[in-house]
Parts: sequence; structure tokens; C-alpha cells
Amino acid sequence: MASLANSKVKSIKRSASSSLNSKAIKLREEGKEIVNLSVGEPDFDTPERIKNAAIKSIENGFTSYVPASGIKPLKEAIARKLLQENNITVNPDREVIVTPGAKFAINLAISTFTEEGDEVLILDPSWVSYKPLVQLAGATPVSVPLSYEDGFEVTRAKLEENVTKNTKMIILNSPNNPTGRVFSEKEIQEINQFIKDYNVLAVSDEIYEDIVYDEIKNISLASDESVKNNVITVNGFSKGYAMTGWRLGYIAASEELTQEMTKIQEHVVSCATSFVQYGAVEAFYCQHEVDLMTEEYRKRRNFLVSELNALQGIECRYPEGTFYVFAKVNYKGMDSQEFSQFIFEKAGVLVTPGAAYSKDSSECIRMSFATSMEELELGIESIRKVL
Ligand code: PLP
Repeated sequence: MASLANSKVKSIKRSASSSLNSKAIKLREEGKEIVNLSVGEPDFDTPERIKNAAIKSIENGFTSYVPASGIKPLKEAIARKLLQENNITVNPDREVIVTPGAKFAINLAISTFTEEGDEVLILDPSWVSYKPLVQLAGATPVSVPLSYEDGFEVTRAKLEENVTKNTKMIILNSPNNPTGRVFSEKEIQEINQFIKDYNVLAVSDEIYEDIVYDEIKNISLASDESVKNNVITVNGFSKGYAMTGWRLGYIAASEELTQEMTKIQEHVVSCATSFVQYGAVEAFYCQHEVDLMTEEYRKRRNFLVSELNALQGIECRYPEGTFYVFAKVNYKGMDSQEFSQFIFEKAGVLVTPGAAYSKDSSECIRMSFATSMEELELGIESIRKVL
């Protein structure tokens, strides 16, 4: 039967990362032994304190609709955190929206402010969902290509090469999935100057901000007062607190922008799940657990990077944040799709080909180290053998 989907839906594909995850689950169910290095979620459990608070709130009957923008104690906790850790001042009642996941928050920003005729700048390689969400809004994603060779550095010149009179928005992501880069102070200054000069809206996706290494700190774009009104800061609980299945994220933006986005939130989901929000209030008291998880990621990162660089035909840098290594492959003329297929078939190791993140990243693969050290050791050993 011909597809009944509308033209916007027809123009997009299924999410590469979700498809790979389903493939891994299916293969394991069939009894095939695979090492899955394509996962985009922590392999840790949610901290007890958060789980207990959510359970208690169910027992106490907090199971009804709550205000569209979120429950007061969570919005206040978010505002406190943004002030203390990100140097962003927001009014918790009027400038915060609690959403069902950061993905939904990003969709709120894109679908509220862009439409046909608008262009949205996306720094490539980029997370798999930005472009489809822009396309669903009817707007046009415009790629700003960054390269492995110059460390995926962003400069004002690269942004200016792609800006037009139709540019309405730019989407930024630091710490970055898939490259593991964290914007330097210089890059933040150049980006912010660009946002001001061209008066574009910016979506700053900071979902991996807790997972950073070597004393590196993520700088929030909106900490610069002079661009704050143009910036929609997106964050969430999935990665740092190992809460992917809870589906909880948030937006911080000016009152004017927040009011518009709240309309869609009200009509599409009413609110994020009530008792999940009560659990998340406790997340801000879980720094110790976050530090323990990050320390574990750090050990795995160091292992993976040094082992990969010792293999024939693969090189990579240390990611500054996230739990991904974006490695460059130069093996018997294979592109990343062929190489990923090769190590999957011969070594049973599942990775994500770079082409999922950008058409210019066909020489790279993304490997996730959100998996146990034993799995990583097994994966490396299997790849070493087939190479
Ligand atoms: N932004 C980036 C860069 C991501 O990698 C992900 C998840 O993989 C998300 C947003 C979505 O996060 P959430 O689980 O909060 O929807």
C-alpha cells in the first residue's frame, strides 16, 4: 500500500540510533552474542533517592495532571541550578518549561519558531534528530560542516558561510553527540557574537553537561546576558542522572519565548508525567552519584581511546565530554558504513556509522562507552582479531 503519511513525514527516515538499538535487542533475543557499542544511554541505574521520591509521590496520590510548565518545586530547583551552575538567571514561574524529555523540548523550540521558508543552521556532524525535527516543522536544515581534521572547531567564518536572510535559528550541542567536543570559551564568544549580529534564535542542547572530563566545564550560551533573550537552553535528566526511560527534560528561555512554546506543550501533552517530576526534584541532590558515574565513564574512555589508537586503520581523540568516541577509520578503502558492517559481521561489534550524523562523516564511526568495561574489552579484542 502506498504510504499514507503526509509529505513532511515521507521526507524523513526512522531514527538511525533507535533502529540500531532495536536491531541489538532482537539479535540478543535470538541468542546471538554481540557487543553493542551503539547505545546512547547510561548503563547505570537511576540513583535510589530519585526512585524513592517518585515511588512516594505515587503512593501519596500525586497522579493527576499538573501545570503545563511543570510542578513548582521542580521549576524552582531548575532555576536554582541554572543560577548556581550555569550562571543563567530565570524566573521559575515564567521562564521554565518541564517537558517529557529533552527531545520534546527541542521539538517544542523548533516547531514553535520555525516554518516553511526558514532555514535552521545545524553544526555537522550532529545528533540524528535535529534535521528530521526541522523538516517536520516545514523549515530547511542547513548544514555547517565541521571536520575531524580541525577538531570539529566552530568559527564565526564557518557560520557566516552558511547564513542567509532566511536563517531563523541555529542549533548547538555541547558537550556534543557524536564528537565528544565541548565548546571552548573562544568558540562560545564567536557563536554568541554571530547570534547577536544576525539576530537568530539559538537552541542550546546541553543534555550531556554533567558528563565532562579533565576539569573541563561546559559553558552555557545563555550565561552571556547580551544574548540571553535569543537563547533557548535545553537540558534534561536522561544522561547525567541515568533517567532515559523517565522521559524528563526542560527548557529555559525568556518569558516571551516560553509563553509561545507553552501553547504547544498544553495542546500536545498537557504536561510531563506528574510523579516523575517529584522524583526529579531529588536529582539535584545526587552530585555524588553523578560523579561516580562520570569517573567510571572516564576510566572506560581512557581505555577505549588508547586501545583504538593501537589498532590498525583507526584513530581517535579523547572526547572532552559525553560517553562517545568519534573515531576516524582508514581501513582497506572501506567507508564507515562498510566498516561498521564488516566489524559487525566478523567481530559481532555494533557501532554507528558516521553517515548517520552527517553526509561528510563517512570516514568516522561513533562508539559508545556507556557499557561495561568487560564489554569494551571484549569488543576491542574481537575487532583486533578481525583487523
Ligand atoms: N540531545 C542529544 C544530543 C541527545 O543525544 C539526546 C539523546 O540521545 C537527546 C537530546 C534526547 O534526550 P532525552 O532522553 O532527554 O529526550
